[in-house]
Amino acid sequence: MSTIWTLAEIEGGELKGITHELLTAARSLADASGSLKVGIVALGHEIGGLVPQLGSLGADIVALADAPSLANAPADVVARVVGPFLQGQQARTVLLGHTATGKDIAGRLAVRLDCGVIADATELAVEGGKIVATRSIFGGGMWSRAVAAGNGAVVTVRPRAVTPAPGQPSRSSETLTISVADGSTTRRVETLELKQETSTTVSLGDAEVVVAGGRGMGGADKFGPVETLARTLGAAVGASRAVVDSGWRPHKEQIGQTGRTVSPKLYVALGISGAIQHLVGMRTSGTIIAINSDAEAPIMKVANVAAVGDVHEIVPALVAELSRQGVGAGA
Ligand SMILES: Cc1cc2nc3c(=O)[nH]c(=O)nc-3n(C[C@H](O)[C@H](O)[C@H](O)COP(=O)(O)OP(=O)(O)OC[C@H]3O[C@@H](n4cnc5c(N)ncnc54)[C@H](O)[C@@H]3O)c2cc1C
Repeated sequence: MSTIWTLAEIEGGELKGITHELLTAARSLADASGSLKVGIVALGHEIGGLVPQLGSLGADIVALADAPSLANAPADVVARVVGPFLQGQQARTVLLGHTATGKDIAGRLAVRLDCGVIADATELAVEGGKIVATRSIFGGGMWSRAVAAGNGAVVTVRPRAVTPAPGQPSRSSETLTISVADGSTTRRVETLELKQETSTTVSLGDAEVVVAGGRGMGGADKFGPVETLARTLGAAVGASRAVVDSGWRPHKEQIGQTGRTVSPKLYVALGISGAIQHLVGMRTSGTIIAINSDAEAPIMKVANVAAVGDVHEIVPALVAELSRQGVGAGA
């Protein structure tokens, strides 16, 4: 029986949310096919304690590569260790997150497996015995459906495209040990220091709610309503490229084709027109609320809730009302 493989992302000894999403996606493909198993490779140091959790989240097989030299392993080391193992398993489908880590590993792993890469899948399905990935292309203007030709594919899955299924603590899994060959963990670049960015705000990648501001805010010094609403909702702050290019906000907050792709449960767009290059970075959000003075702005057509008016009037009133209802820090 063949296996859909995934790769765990681990940080500080804990599974990152994308791992849960990948296992949910792989599990539903395996269940739909009726003939596939789900395997996950976990790589790091002293990570054996994660095995029961990986099993409960849907893995039939947990393959562990555990060694001191694998702590915080860079992408080339991951590919060198995982590649031969997956080759031995005759892996045909490997799901990675479309995250900084997953994107870094995908190409290297595909070369080792001599297979293709399907990037940024937002939906996966089994059709006629094949795994079909749906992804957005041409800056989000079109959707394409792709299947692996030849030897299979490494597929990167967009974070939050899959709703994680609840774990089943009674599920058990088979554990395999990946042997770590001499020299396979040699690093070409040594990381001297890892520093967590100190931020008082929620990070965009993890945020369930994003409040983003555009040129319609009117200036760097007029971004207060974006920050206040974000604080009230426990949200991350995002921005359009026009705002970043003007130097009002840092590039790490830019959402869109040349910025971050986000898919939060709630996306609030303040004074953003909704150019296609912006939409491609946020259109898969669960609920979209747009506040714009122009009822005809493109963002209003993709919004679930569209309010026409001045952000500087609507947002303070909204924050006051939320506060009155007991929502947020100011409540
Ligand atoms: C190759 C390429 C890549 C790009 N990548 C990105 C990207 O990654 N991300 C991105 O965002 N853009 C990107 N762009 C730029 C994109 O095309 C738009 O120019 C940009 O998104 C516009 O930003 P904006 O909506 O903030 O500004 P505008 O288009 O100027 O829109 C401002 C909006 O605010 C509204 N407004 C004005 N005043 C108020 C008010 N007081 N209250 C409420 N509403 C108000 C206006 O009605 C308008 O809709 C890219 C472009 C190219 C060519």
